[in-house]
Amino acid sequence: MSRPPGLPVTLKHFIGGTHVTSTDGATFEVADPVSNTPYATVAAGGPEDIDRAVTAAAQAFTDGPWPGLPARAKARVLNKIADAIEGRAARIAELETFDTGLPVTQARGQAARAAENFRFFADMTVTLHEDAFSSPGQFGYVIRRPAGVAGLITPWNTPFMLETWKLAPALASGCTVVLKPAEWTPLSASLLPEIMTEAGLPDGVFNLVHGTGEAAGAALVAHPGVPRISFTGETSTGRTIMAAAAPHLKGLSMELGGKSPCVVFADADLDQATDSALFGVFSLNGERCTAGARILAERAVYHALVTRLATRAERIRVGDPADPRTELGALVHPEHYARVLGYVQAGRDEGARLVAGGARPAHLAAGNYLAATVFADVEESMRIFREEIFGPVVCVTPFADEAEAIRLANATPYGLAAYIWTRDLARAHRVARAVESGMTWINSHNVRDLRTPFGGVKASGLGREGGPHSLDFYTESRIVHIPLGDTGVPRFGA
Ligand code: NAD
Repeated sequence: MSRPPGLPVTLKHFIGGTHVTSTDGATFEVADPVSNTPYATVAAGGPEDIDRAVTAAAQAFTDGPWPGLPARAKARVLNKIADAIEGRAARIAELETFDTGLPVTQARGQAARAAENFRFFADMTVTLHEDAFSSPGQFGYVIRRPAGVAGLITPWNTPFMLETWKLAPALASGCTVVLKPAEWTPLSASLLPEIMTEAGLPDGVFNLVHGTGEAAGAALVAHPGVPRISFTGETSTGRTIMAAAAPHLKGLSMELGGKSPCVVFADADLDQATDSALFGVFSLNGERCTAGARILAERAVYHALVTRLATRAERIRVGDPADPRTELGALVHPEHYARVLGYVQAGRDEGARLVAGGARPAHLAAGNYLAATVFADVEESMRIFREEIFGPVVCVTPFADEAEAIRLANATPYGLAAYIWTRDLARAHRVARAVESGMTWINSHNVRDLRTPFGGVKASGLGREGGPHSLDFYTESRIVHIPLGDTGVPRFGA
């Protein structure tokens, strides 16, 4: 993959409307996943940089116009942010593909979704209304206030889309923000300052601090001036963040890992189920929190499905992420690549039957490439069944009946998404109820209506984002009561 023209060689923080280096001058290098050679030097934020950013955000919150702006005025800015993203969509996709290894056609879809995140919350702000409670003697109404400075911590998979996923509702709510992007993929976030400035967002409302999770991320979580932390990332990191936030009693939104089941019953439309199962786990390089990484197939169709999956997986085009024909690109980082290969080895060692992939494709000598990998006869005791791999590896397991399907679907610590394929509607709804997942799709793949609650149960997260749920998170709802006549209060000491 060639380097995109005009690639920045240094990436700085953006604090109070200005690009700045770290207070102590610290930097780190970032590489692309195809050549694995550094392409830029990035400012490495620490507690002092976080403090500067939080101070700028707090000042913009208390003294600036943003939190109190009428909804229509705020929506205009949010729509201009969407315009600015759309105006750069090709560039965003190009940089994202270069930095993350995502196939460019899929990165384009993510850029479009990023703009949509802002349009959606622009619309929400102008249509938002609050509850009122009327009873014969008393009237109450809700006032909603932005929570303050929101800390946004994001992962390296679909980085730009996930950053906007948090930025849009936080800004729509009137919060000011400090964003800490993932250190492996800081490139597309470096476009956000010019996007925000072009749209007319006041200085200090949006602040960006690069750096590692242990330094910049931890400092943001520990900062007493940040009442909300929205985090997307690994379950183990989520645990660390919850513990670190506890002394401050911060509001937390935790979008964590997954190991979602795709349950295929014998009466399913096998053609569609196959397409969906393959796309569900191999799109976005399998680096997808809602990936249907465990395919559970009823015995009557198990062998047919395994054959279909293996045949099609072998044909998935792995290669240069910038090539529009590529279906599966390069995994984000050599460390992650090694981890995924470790799981492939674990699958072999534990006795799962490898029916497709399992190694670097022969035509790709360098880069973090893995062929689309399918393991059959995977047992629930195996690590590849229970642990999140977060790469292009899928496990296929047979089941005998509905009860066993449900038991297997629930046999991991996670509970993010589930996919159910059957023509029996009653069964589809029964299984949807019984499967422990925050989001279930029946006879369909992961298509999301932005109004719906997004999030997981069990180890997949805490709290919901999406639509009104996001606004609830970034605001405080307060109730005001007033009597409509005599208060009727008991007269103590009268
Ligand atoms: P990660 O947990 O390693 O890192 C995520 C972010 O947290 C990064 O910005 C990192 O720098 C920061 N971080 C790390 N340690 C920290 C600490 N101690 N304090 C504060 N911040 C810290 O996750 P990742 O490897 O970047 O992303 C992949 C994971 O994200 C997968 O588990 C995936 O399932 C999950 N994910 C979940 C969703 C969802 O919506 N549920 C969406 C996308 C990804």
